[in-house]
Amino acid sequence: MQLPVYMDYAATTPVDPRVAAAMSRCLTADGIFANPASRSHIYGWQAEEQVEKARRNVADLLGCDSREVVWTSGATESNNLALKGIFEACGYEGHLITSVIEHKAVIDPAIWLESKGVEVTWLEPDANGIISPELVRNSIRENTRLVSLMYVNNETGAVNPITEIAHICRDNNVLFHVDAAQAVGKIPVDTNELQVDLLSLSAHKFYGPKGIGALFVRRPIQSQLKPLIHGGGHERGMRSGTLPTHQLVGIGEAALIVCEQLETEMIRIAQLRDNLWEGISDLPNVRRNSSLDNVSPSHLNVCFSGAEGETLMLSLREIAVSSGSACTSATMEPSYVLKAMGLSDEDAHSSIRISLGRFTEREDIEKAIAHIRTVYTQLISSTD
Ligand SMILES: *Cc1c(COP(=O)(O)O)cnc(C)c1O
Repeated sequence: MQLPVYMDYAATTPVDPRVAAAMSRCLTADGIFANPASRSHIYGWQAEEQVEKARRNVADLLGCDSREVVWTSGATESNNLALKGIFEACGYEGHLITSVIEHKAVIDPAIWLESKGVEVTWLEPDANGIISPELVRNSIRENTRLVSLMYVNNETGAVNPITEIAHICRDNNVLFHVDAAQAVGKIPVDTNELQVDLLSLSAHKFYGPKGIGALFVRRPIQSQLKPLIHGGGHERGMRSGTLPTHQLVGIGEAALIVCEQLETEMIRIAQLRDNLWEGISDLPNVRRNSSLDNVSPSHLNVCFSGAEGETLMLSLREIAVSSGSACTSATMEPSYVLKAMGLSDEDAHSSIRISLGRFTEREDIEKAIAHIRTVYTQLISSTD
C-alpha cells in the first residue's frame, strides 16, 4: 500500500534528521546523558553546556536574552504557565482578554481561571479569522491584567496583528501573552520587535521532538509569574524538574535550522501552497477560508461546499490532511474556529486544512491537485 502524502504539518512535523542525530548523541553512556544540574563532575558540566547552547539557539531565534527562555513540556504547558502563573500571582483577581478562536490550550485554562473568579472577555474574529486591535483596545478595563492571543491560528493560518496589539497593551499597562506555536518556524518571530511579555512555542511544530517547548518570559515579568510545578527550583524557580538534555538539544538544533532556512523556506512553501490553491480554485463551490494576505505560508484551509464533509475526508485517501483541527476532529463537531468566522455548520464540516512543510515537494502538490480534483468531481456528480 502506498502511504498518503503527509500534508498535516500544522498538527505536527517529523523530526528533522539532523535534529534526531544530535538528540541520539545525548542518551547512552557514551553520550551526553548526565543530569545538567550535576555540578560535581564533568558529565554534568557537559550536559549543562549542551542545555545552555540550546537555550542560546532558541533565544537567538526569538531575539531575546537566554535568561528569558523557560523550558516546558510544550506549548500546552507554556500557555498554562503563562495564564495561570500570572493570575495565581494576583490571587485570581482581575480581567483577562482572550478570543474564541484560541487553541484549547488557552481556552481551557481561561475557562478554569473564570471558575476561580477571573473575569474573562472572549473576543470574536472577523470573517478572515483575525482579531482586530480595536476590539482589544475597547475591551481593556481598569482591572485588565493580561491579554492572551495567538499569533497564527492553527486551523486557518490567519496571522493576528501582534505588534499593534502589543502597543495597545503597553500603552495601557497590560501584560501580553502570545501563543506562537504555529508561528515559530513558519514566519519570523522576534520578541523585541513584537514587544510581547510572554510567548509560547513548541518544538514539534518546527521539526523538533514532541514533549518539549518553551515560554519566553520577559525579565521584569519573571517576578510576577508563579510556577505551576514546584520542585528543585529549576528554570529560575518558574518550572522545576530535571532538564531532558536530549530533548533540549533537539529543540536547540531545530531552532538553529529554522534560523538558517526560514527566509528561503517561507518563499518556497508559500509558492507550493499557492500552486496547490491555483490547481483547485476553479472547482465549483470551493473557496478559501482566509484572506490571501495575513496568512501563514504553510496553511491552506478550503471549504468544499459541494460535498458532505465526512464523505470528503474519507474519500481523500491519498493525502493526509485534517478537518478543522487535529484536536477537535475526534469529536466530529464542526470547527469552532470556522463557525466563529461566520461559516455555517455544513460549510465548517466541508472544510479541510491542508498544511505544508519542509519535506513537501512539487510532486506532492501535483499529486494532491489531481487527487482532490478526481475525488471532489466524483462526489459532486454523485449528489446531483
Ligand atoms: C500545537 C499547538 C499547541 C499545543 O502545543 P503542544 O506542544 O502540542 O502542547 C498550542 N497552541 C497552538 C496554536 C498549537 O498549534
